[in-house]
Amino acid sequence: MSKIQLLSSRLANQIAAGEVVERPASVAKEVLENSLDAGATRVDIDVEAGGSKLIRIRDNGSGIPSEDMALALARHATSKITSLEDLERVGSLGFRGEALASIGSVSRLTLTSNANEHGSEGSSAACEGREMEVQLKPAPHPRGTTVEVRDLFFNTPARRKFLRTEKTEFNHLEEVVKRLALSRFDVAFTLRHNGKVVHSLKVAEAQAECQRRVATICGPAFMEQAIAIESNVPPYRLSGWVGLPTFSRSQADLQYFFVNGRVIRDRLIAHAVKQAYRDVLYHGRHPAFVLYLELDPAQVDVNVHPTKHEVRFRDGRAVHNFIFSSLHRALADVRPGQAPGGDPAAEQLLTTSDGMSIDTATGEIRSQSPLAWGTPTADRPAMAGRGFGSPPPSSGQVAGQLNSYSRLHGLPDVESPEEVPPLGYALAQLKGVYVLAENAHGLVLVDMHAAHERITYERLKAARDESGIRSQPLLVPQSIAVSQREVQVAIEHSALFQRLGLAVDEGGEESLVIRQIPVVLRDSNVEQLLRDVLADLIEYGSSERIEAHMDEILSTMACHGSVRANRRLTIPEMNSLLRDMEETERSGQCNHGRPTWIQMGLDELDTLFLRGR
Ligand code: ADP
Ligand code: MG
Repeated sequence: MSKIQLLSSRLANQIAAGEVVERPASVAKEVLENSLDAGATRVDIDVEAGGSKLIRIRDNGSGIPSEDMALALARHATSKITSLEDLERVGSLGFRGEALASIGSVSRLTLTSNANEHGSEGSSAACEGREMEVQLKPAPHPRGTTVEVRDLFFNTPARRKFLRTEKTEFNHLEEVVKRLALSRFDVAFTLRHNGKVVHSLKVAEAQAECQRRVATICGPAFMEQAIAIESNVPPYRLSGWVGLPTFSRSQADLQYFFVNGRVIRDRLIAHAVKQAYRDVLYHGRHPAFVLYLELDPAQVDVNVHPTKHEVRFRDGRAVHNFIFSSLHRALADVRPGQAPGGDPAAEQLLTTSDGMSIDTATGEIRSQSPLAWGTPTADRPAMAGRGFGSPPPSSGQVAGQLNSYSRLHGLPDVESPEEVPPLGYALAQLKGVYVLAENAHGLVLVDMHAAHERITYERLKAARDESGIRSQPLLVPQSIAVSQREVQVAIEHSALFQRLGLAVDEGGEESLVIRQIPVVLRDSNVEQLLRDVLADLIEYGSSERIEAHMDEILSTMACHGSVRANRRLTIPEMNSLLRDMEETERSGQCNHGRPTWIQMGLDELDTLFLRGR
């Protein structure tokens, strides 16, 4: 007798189920994706006992004609693609034609559907983890489909054992619903657990409604502290919201990335986002985001994983670059109002509040000369009207408030409201820590040290970029053993290394020689850094590690060189700090991602004093 036998279709389905049906949440994902593919505009999800007892999903999609019911439950049967060309530019969420067959092989599944525009007569088929002998029965059902999955894994006890508590399983399932709800604002979702409504999301059309849905799913705090992204560089488009660096998380639990409407987890994308936040997020913190990437479906392969959580981009480097630059730009603009151009760091020597001078090219602290910090520039020209946080005030309001202030301080009257700087004018200093200022909205509170630290840091970086990186030759060139591929990559990117002040030569087939390093990195482990950079270059085609490391050193210098708490500032010095904040990129948060300033509107103050207006 032959040793090799064809698997029974039941066993084959159960094996396939091993890939796609891990837990109740995976059932929900597959069934919901079918509803969305069927053009449903509303789906109702009922769950009992975390989904292991029951998952019932009803939609108002196109339905399944009764003659197709048996096929819908069969493996390798799909209405979504017919050829390899279809697969290469697939627009539906499903296409493998095995979800219902797999789920049916490990549960008690009932499929009820009606594809008729009019009439309420549908048909129903059931399978109980057995061979697919589908008995069709007439059943009342409006146009659309209901899939009922009971007793998941009842016939595969080994898998049932892997299920966690009801609560954990439900959390996973809810997460699936959230993701899909974020991917389709045009579909209404309700989710009930053990008879209780957990989510009820109406169709969202206007931008405000979409934002409300995001706030419901991701929490209102996210939406309040998020910036909208809209970046269009054909063939790519990126939209959505990213949390301000001051809204970072201890876990990577608020990160949603959709590629052509499909939620995915991807290392390349994670790396691009992380790199964009590099300079504004404290170590170990995670950014929050809901982002949608759209590109030609032919440019992305979705058939790389059975659950389709991963994709492969035809041009991964271009995608990486696009995402990084879109987000980097958006995050750099996080500052109070935006100033037109102007290079704040033309000089090579930067003098800090404590009278310390820092050579911006080498980072050396030069001297201690008692110089005051900055120059008073309270009358600097207009900032573009893009405020931060609250809406812009009316012109009369602004002029009135500011003129009374100006007269008091012997400043020229404000003619037009455009001349009001976003952070207003300093009033006083509190406990040597906070600057109090008045702007058009009301009170501004600034954490002096945090703000100054960011300004100093950005200046150090700008000065470095301006004057170039100073490097020094190593007395003894350092030879390191690497792979042939790494030698190649190092040669390919020699221009990058040169720009960063590193001289790296080929030392042999499998070795590199470091001859020169940037002065700021003299105390760093350059060999390790180089190895990490080569690994990045091989995997992502780009690396910012060297810059990141140099920035970290500059950041430490900035921290030491910034106004300490308890230092008295004069009013002009405070105003100068405010003006510098307005002109400095990323000045909305300090180098550690904490906020540098907050606004308390007059209305908020009024509320504090129970003052009706
Ligand atoms: P796939 O989604 O990969 O095609 P499935 O096993 O998930 O495979 O579904 C098989 C087929 O059953 C689908 O191609 C579709 O024609 C039909 N189907 C499943 N669910 C629905 C639904 N909710 N509404 C309409 N048709 C459905
Ligand atoms: Mg499917």
